[in-house]
Amino acid sequence: MKTLIFKRFLWLLILLSAMVLAVTYPVYLQYQQGVKQRLLANEETSVVAASQLIQQEMDEQLHVLGLIQHSARLKDYLSSFDEAHRHQLELYFQQVSTAFHRFDQIRLLDNAGRERVRVSLVKGQDTITPKAALQDKSDRYYFTEAKNLAKDEIFVSKLDLSVKHNEIELPHKPIMRFSVPVFDHDGQRAGVLVINYLAKGMLEKFRQQMRKRANQQGMLLDEQGYWLSNHKRSNEWGADLGKPKHTFANMYPEEWPIIARQRSGVLETKAGIFRFETIQPFNFNTQLPSHFMAQHDVVLTEQSNNNTTWKLVIFVPYDYIHQRSFLYQTMGKSLLILLGILLVGAALLIAIVSTHLRVRRREQRRLNEVLHDLYDNAPCGYHSLDDQGNVIRINQTELDWLGYQRQDVINQPFSQLLTPDSKDTFEHFFNGFTQGLPQENIVLEMQRKDGSTFYISNSATILKDKQGHFSAARTSVFDISERIELEQRLELLANNDGLTGISNRRHFYERGTFEIKRAQRYYQPLAVIMIDADHFKNINDQYGHDVGDLVLQALANKVNENLRETDIFGRIGGEEFALILSPTPVTFALEVAERLRRALEQVVVVTNKHEEVHFTVSIGVAALSLPEQTLDDLIKQADIALYQAKAQGRNQVVLYQDES
Ligand code: GH3
Ligand code: MG
Ligand code: MG
Repeated sequence: MKTLIFKRFLWLLILLSAMVLAVTYPVYLQYQQGVKQRLLANEETSVVAASQLIQQEMDEQLHVLGLIQHSARLKDYLSSFDEAHRHQLELYFQQVSTAFHRFDQIRLLDNAGRERVRVSLVKGQDTITPKAALQDKSDRYYFTEAKNLAKDEIFVSKLDLSVKHNEIELPHKPIMRFSVPVFDHDGQRAGVLVINYLAKGMLEKFRQQMRKRANQQGMLLDEQGYWLSNHKRSNEWGADLGKPKHTFANMYPEEWPIIARQRSGVLETKAGIFRFETIQPFNFNTQLPSHFMAQHDVVLTEQSNNNTTWKLVIFVPYDYIHQRSFLYQTMGKSLLILLGILLVGAALLIAIVSTHLRVRRREQRRLNEVLHDLYDNAPCGYHSLDDQGNVIRINQTELDWLGYQRQDVINQPFSQLLTPDSKDTFEHFFNGFTQGLPQENIVLEMQRKDGSTFYISNSATILKDKQGHFSAARTSVFDISERIELEQRLELLANNDGLTGISNRRHFYERGTFEIKRAQRYYQPLAVIMIDADHFKNINDQYGHDVGDLVLQALANKVNENLRETDIFGRIGGEEFALILSPTPVTFALEVAERLRRALEQVVVVTNKHEEVHFTVSIGVAALSLPEQTLDDLIKQADIALYQAKAQGRNQVVLYQDES
């Protein structure tokens, strides 16, 4: 029982859990989607803020560049190239550098690529480089890229780490170079202006912006996927630091191609959600709504735009989303535990109840089987009849008695299983029974399939339907054949003479009295015939008592042969017999008597010694004449007639004559 409960419990638990999951999981997914949407919505602020920050910063640099490019100081020098103007320019560069404090270098190169003026930030000081220390930079990309540009064109380098004497400068110095061609007062191309912009401040602000975000995983990538900013600083500047594997592409190989290709979007992957935005601060054509660029009538080279195609990527790992979700919080966890407990409880309860029910059902079934067995194999027959007397149920015992199969008798009239006499009896009782009369110990004779018969005692009870009407008769049936046989044997013994088998004196009187009364009631004629063997003593004496007995038997047999069914024949004394013929007129009775006398005369009894014994009888006949006559009266009268027959010489018939 316990293992059964446990097994059910497990199954139920699985089933219930599956059901609950099937219902709640879509809801949870939707909820989770909501959490995600909210998180993403929050990220939009960061995306916009970070984008604007970068654009604003870049915009400022273009302003400064324009300011210097178009300054009179610069043009004065470029028109004269004299020392006085150069010195003025140096001071000017120094003033600008000090004012903005974000330029590593501001330089003027001549058309040949030689440095003419250089102001550098050395240990936080804007320092003018002595003329002697100025160098030839004609082979540097920031010169070659810019020297042939049109008036309003700008070259912008990649953002990378500053290198000094072939070594990455420490602490890291992220730098962007802005180069523009410069012209003298006559509009003649006179050199290139180069500003080394220190991006440290911008990146610092970017990081601050990202730190404001919940999980701090916001990053800025260059167009190759190297990190310009990452929450893990060691990931930054992979290209510059000779760590080619330190790329976004390497860390997120599936995500990168999509992020690299698309301008902006949301990417959901196994790892989490990426919100990415392309930032091209100088691409005035494609840039999303910008508050800063519209006023510039400058153009960046294609290369410059490529150099400054950055990706802002905000990464929200799924773990983080899950942690924000309700189910990860105390309340949610408590609810989950509660749900779990409820599930277990429900499963346990159902398992216990259903197992108990099942055990009870099994017990019930077993009980039913026992009952069924009792019903079918009871020592008595059982059957149920509908209100038409058709068999609706019958047990095996009764079927065995009858020799029928169940299907032979089901829905058949029960009366078909009875002998014609019993059929009438049954129908009589059944009609009364359906009207509420009792039916107890009714004796019926049933007929087997093979035609033989047997007696049953039948007792029935009524089954009523809900309305109280007869619905079926439930009948128990006992085989009483043996009893009936015994009764019949006893009756035979009690009523018949042992020697001749015909009615004995008592039975004869019983039947005779009844018959006389009937005859008197219906005014029918009736006659009594008395028969006495002549000189019977002699037969006994001559042949022995046994032969005497044989003679008596032969006499009775011969009389019996000549009788009708309605005649009553009895042995009323040793060798005296009597007959009642009804309804029979006296003349006919005399004829019968005479016929019997003659027939008996012909009877020959052969002894075992082969002797032939003949005998005769004397017969007295009396007829019913008065309404109050009794059998005794008639017997006496017949006896008187018999006596006369003896007296007149025996072997004759004499009719009693009333002398009065
Ligand atoms: P009758 O009637 O002609 O005057 O002469 P009877 O010899 O028949 O005279 P009675 O009627 O007086 O005698 C009857 C005899 O029948 C007496 C008895 O021994 C004999 N008897 C009576 N019952 C039996 C019986 O059951 N078996 C045999 N063998 N004899 C019987
Ligand atoms: Mg006699
Ligand atoms: Mg006699």
